[in-house]
Amino acid sequence: MSLLELKDIKKTYSLGNSILGKRKSVEAIKGISLTLEQGVCLGIVGESGSGKSTLGKIILGLEKPDQGEVLFQGKHLHSLKAKELKELRRNLQVVFQDCYSAVNPRLTIGEIIAEPIRNYERLSPTEERKQVEGLLEIVGLRLEDMHKYPSQFSGGQLQRINIARAIALKPNLIILDEAISALDALVQVQILNLLVQLKEDFQLSYLFISHDLQAVNYIADRIAVMYQGEVVEWLDDMEKLEQLKHPVSKKLISSVLSPYPVFF
Ligand code: ADP
Ligand code: MG
Repeated sequence: MSLLELKDIKKTYSLGNSILGKRKSVEAIKGISLTLEQGVCLGIVGESGSGKSTLGKIILGLEKPDQGEVLFQGKHLHSLKAKELKELRRNLQVVFQDCYSAVNPRLTIGEIIAEPIRNYERLSPTEERKQVEGLLEIVGLRLEDMHKYPSQFSGGQLQRINIARAIALKPNLIILDEAISALDALVQVQILNLLVQLKEDFQLSYLFISHDLQAVNYIADRIAVMYQGEVVEWLDDMEKLEQLKHPVSKKLISSVLSPYPVFF
């Protein structure tokens, strides 16, 4: 059984009525099937508007597909009862691009990281503190950061906090939707390296969504290239980027030639 299986997913957004009375719509996902195994990072790459975030939201249960099935740990995600969905969701976490809006500015870092733990587990204050300290250490932050507020941190540090919160419940899958895209190039590399380390240490699976083929190539074990709501090409051997043939893939490869730090 695959950790995640998508079967012929379709999603159309209705854009309301135009002046002529015709309903306008956009086919965001036009029939996508894929599987993801435990411990694997699947990279989803494509230009802006190709449907990447919609796909992520469907997997998270934030959007309902018009057609098709999403199986997570063998269960049909979109037909679960609220209680079952909550239980399943602890194994399925997300980190979005906008690290600032992902955190409540009035909560301390300790409270932010403890949020999912409080949602799912009943721990004593001492046990909770121990877990938060452990998570801060894992993501490379200092223990005293626990008492600070989001405004006291840089984007990269906040993304570490969001990652700590995402791994707090030891999930199986983390969806990373442009999670490093807003960061400086050097910080991007640091966060990518942290993600690689976490994946190894905790046997995590990632769905790594990005418009940046170079970042995707760095972290992913497989790549799906998306274009206008479809997967137009798959790459299974990360050493062979040049084998990508689709014109959209070629375009993404040429944008990789833009300057990037030498760490890659
Ligand atoms: P990407 O993440 O690859 O940039 P998205 O999944 O955000 O792409 O969007 C895919 C298409 O669906 C785009 O044309 C976008 O405008 C449209 N779209 C996304 N979300 C909505 C929405 N809530 N309502 C209407 N159209 C949407
Ligand atoms: Mg997007």
